[in-house]
Amino acid sequence: MDTKKVRVRFAPSPTGGLHLGGVRTVLYNYLFAKKHGGEFVLRIEDTDQSRFVEGAEEYIMKCLEWCGIEPDESPLKGGPFAPYRQSERKANYAQYAQQLINDGKAYYAFDTPEELEVMREKYKMEGHSAQYDNRTRAFMRNSLTLTADEVNTLLAANTPYVIRIKMPVGETLLFTDMIRGAVSFDTSLVDDKVLLKADGMPTYHLAVVVDDYLMKITHAFRGEEWLPSAPVHLLLWRYLGWENDMPEWAHLPLILKPDGNGKLSKRDGDRLGFPVFAMDWIDPRTNEQTTGFRERGFLPEAFVNMLALLGWNPGVEQELFSMEEMAALFSMDRVHKGGAKFDYEKAKWFNHQYIQKTDNVQLAELIKPQLADKNIIATDQKLIQVIALVKERCHLLNEFWEQSYFFFVTPQTIDTAAIQAKWSDTAKSFFQSLQTNFIASADWSHDNIETIFNNTIIDAGIKKGEAMLPFRIMLVGGKFGPGVFAIAELIGKEETIKRLQNALASL
Ligand code: GLU
Repeated sequence: MDTKKVRVRFAPSPTGGLHLGGVRTVLYNYLFAKKHGGEFVLRIEDTDQSRFVEGAEEYIMKCLEWCGIEPDESPLKGGPFAPYRQSERKANYAQYAQQLINDGKAYYAFDTPEELEVMREKYKMEGHSAQYDNRTRAFMRNSLTLTADEVNTLLAANTPYVIRIKMPVGETLLFTDMIRGAVSFDTSLVDDKVLLKADGMPTYHLAVVVDDYLMKITHAFRGEEWLPSAPVHLLLWRYLGWENDMPEWAHLPLILKPDGNGKLSKRDGDRLGFPVFAMDWIDPRTNEQTTGFRERGFLPEAFVNMLALLGWNPGVEQELFSMEEMAALFSMDRVHKGGAKFDYEKAKWFNHQYIQKTDNVQLAELIKPQLADKNIIATDQKLIQVIALVKERCHLLNEFWEQSYFFFVTPQTIDTAAIQAKWSDTAKSFFQSLQTNFIASADWSHDNIETIFNNTIIDAGIKKGEAMLPFRIMLVGGKFGPGVFAIAELIGKEETIKRLQNALASL
């Protein structure tokens, strides 16, 4: 039996905002590691300098922190296999590319960008696939077509080159994916991927294999979009002599658009009005800002719970899980093969559930910045009382203000039309007496306000239903909000009377 300690990794390239699919990949890695008492490594795959984006690495780390996912090893934290940034590991890769060349498994390619372009154009016109592969390489400038002397001369003259893998012809490669089961590839259809670039940096293909090996990764979970690269990686593991150490792979299903039509993209979020990134992301190149789940008012526990179930069936009826509960239940064979449709309403349902579960004191801390933005000064005690009254109505933390502003400020407008629809002389005299009775009251508690209200109803001979709604509208401005006597109690006697007066004056 294999007794190797479980080691998994999340290996993002710091190229921009963290898509919820990326967060789900981290999450499944993390849950799997926790379940098996293993280690979770964060490795930054930043070897593609042309795609590097300033600030993206810090942003990814902050996203993980917000989600409550702490790597055991990372660029920040260090660890036994440091450094964890591939750009700092550059010296590791060239020797393996060289080893592959020496073993005849890879070759130098000296083709200039112009020559590659000519090749692509030619094959496109002829209707072939325009890739650098077992067919086209015979017509290109590489160490398979040039003589050893020619190659040595080019190398001695520092001619720029890349190193490509030499894909064998007509081999079938097989591996067992933890989600998909047996997967096979025909090597003839795979192109000769670049392993080492002209700048001496490895490509993703070489770096991911070398680092998964050196970092003793036992299980590699990544998005389905990487499945076509698997044959290249399989061969690299074999050619480098590490086949017995190859991690088990799982290629995670895509997160689909709500209508199920293709992968969910940032643009779908913009179009349909929901976030797709974990946190707000500002692209430093364009200054374009994209909203995140955090800033839209999601609690991290809800976000993580929702994401975990987007593709994984825990096998029980329960839907709300803490991270520990999910880790205890997690298994890859319960992850679906097919894509999972993103459902924003369901995401909000999760958030609503978590808002209800979260302690009001804790919610107050999260909501304070919203009040500060509006220059509202409120005591903690009042804020906590308001939260207790309105949390049930909030699916997002950001809905707090629209559900509760009337506790903090006098509504600027009130829906007088809705009051007028049922307005009568009886109603008018009821509200006049109500004011008088409120002014005279010594006890401004919820129950006493209600008693005064009920007694005034009897005296005025008005139906309760005809008095309640106008009363609510006078206090909050519209037909919404929590219990009206609770509102009156919390805004206070003076403010309640003032709002009644203002409303009566405008009717
Ligand atoms: N660097 C790859 C990415 O950006 C990682 C893929 C993998 O996990 O192998 O997604």
